[in-house]
Amino acid sequence: MATRSLFWFRRDLRLADNPALLNALAAADETLLLFIMDEEIAERSGAYRRAYLAKSLAALSDSVGGRLAVVSGEAASVLKDVSERYQIASIHAARSHAPYGVAQEAEIASTGVEIEYAGSNYAVAPGRVQKPDGTNYRVYTPFFRAWQSHGWRAPAPMPEKPKFISPETSDLNIPAWSAPEGVVLQEAGEAAAMARWAAYRKGALAEYDQARNIPGIPGTSRLSPHLRWGEIHPRTILADLNQSTAHEIFRKEIAWREFYADVLHHNPHTSRDYYAPNFAKMKYDQPGEKFEAWCKGATGYPIVDAAMRQLVAEGWMHNRTRMIVASFLVKDLHIEWRHGADFFMKYLIDNDVASNSHGWQWTAGCGTDASPYYRVFNPIEQGRRFDPDGVYIKRYVPELAHLSAPDIHTPWEVLDGLANGYVTPIVDHAMERLESLARLEAIKVSKEPYPHQNA
Ligand SMILES: Cc1cc2nc3c(=O)[nH]c(=O)nc-3n(C[C@H](O)[C@H](O)[C@H](O)COP(=O)(O)OP(=O)(O)OC[C@H]3O[C@@H](n4cnc5c(N)ncnc54)[C@H](O)[C@@H]3O)c2cc1C
Repeated sequence: MATRSLFWFRRDLRLADNPALLNALAAADETLLLFIMDEEIAERSGAYRRAYLAKSLAALSDSVGGRLAVVSGEAASVLKDVSERYQIASIHAARSHAPYGVAQEAEIASTGVEIEYAGSNYAVAPGRVQKPDGTNYRVYTPFFRAWQSHGWRAPAPMPEKPKFISPETSDLNIPAWSAPEGVVLQEAGEAAAMARWAAYRKGALAEYDQARNIPGIPGTSRLSPHLRWGEIHPRTILADLNQSTAHEIFRKEIAWREFYADVLHHNPHTSRDYYAPNFAKMKYDQPGEKFEAWCKGATGYPIVDAAMRQLVAEGWMHNRTRMIVASFLVKDLHIEWRHGADFFMKYLIDNDVASNSHGWQWTAGCGTDASPYYRVFNPIEQGRRFDPDGVYIKRYVPELAHLSAPDIHTPWEVLDGLANGYVTPIVDHAMERLESLARLEAIKVSKEPYPHQNA
């Protein structure tokens, strides 16, 4: 009888550059492909992410002629049940480094189910890059240097003539989730990821250093959802980069993702909790009407509102505007970063606990080599600088489409600025900036990098 292995897809919904899948194929004559749907997680994920996942699974299934088993339940019991039913000899998967995945692996091990792990969703697995004294980096720049000199493998080859088992019909349970009415998510799946990367590599990547901060143009890759779901491996991307300035800056951004995963690996509590604990003492306001206005994109600050509306319309937001809206929530509205991070997690299709929690903490001033707390983003200046003609604002805030630069950044100052129903600012930035600094003074945070973060 033919020997059988099982490959468990986790955050690696692809066939290319997938070492654990190659191991599964090498271990037996034929391989069962399995995705386990944790219904509790799916429920918590929200409509956007569920829709993206369903599309990604459908694309993966199509790429293997429909031979993808999707089974609901808790991982250990599904793996046990499926292994028995299909007479599986070995189970293969990539490791997870997020707190949920790590706990899941421990739980599975405690039930006696054995898994052969290989690879991760990172070029260098979190925990591998270390200082000469064996401790981990707390500051990005030295991490980047060490990460680069550590290096990574070449992409793994595509499986050749793989033999996949046809699952029983009752195991083919790809959900039919779709995005809420009016929401347009970018295309999901491995083929879409590879096509996006190929097009970006040939096009806008050469201008990345100039264009990456301009939210109104397609200057960044929008690969983040594909990386989050493992539809493309970062190794595949890194292998195509050269030494030009634009490529070097792009490599540095990929390294931010790896850095945050490494920080979370060493500090799992920071998925929800403060990296710099003294900030937990900061006086924050409870989320109320102002928080609702921020969520809806109705703060009266055009660049903030455009960004929040982009998030709700597309399940994605540009990095520059993620920083602007995060700063606005924490420093102008004095609302704790965790409320913003939760809102992002509900809508982002690239939601990633490491990049999200640490992106928020960086902006709030309580993260790793954080932007100093006293540096408060001015939402009007940020708009003028990064969306000078208001292209981005007009795309998402139609009430301001009749205005041209420079009026579009301060519509309350011009006669017909609010003529189409746009709101007046809910706070005065100059005053809130002072309030923010006063609250900082109250917890007496040093303006220097935190001593324990000097690497
Ligand atoms: C408050 C806040 C929350 C964030 N939440 C997330 C999140 O949940 N998921 C997520 O993937 N990124 C998050 N980021 C990081 C960043 O905004 C996105 O990765 C980026 O906007 C994705 O767009 P892109 O693929 O076009 O990026 P590109 O500019 O094309 O960069 C290529 C890749 O590099 C990585 N990258 C780029 N910038 C960063 C960064 N600052 N931090 C970490 N990785 C980066 C991403 O994987 C990205 O896909 C957050 C940033 C902030 C300030």
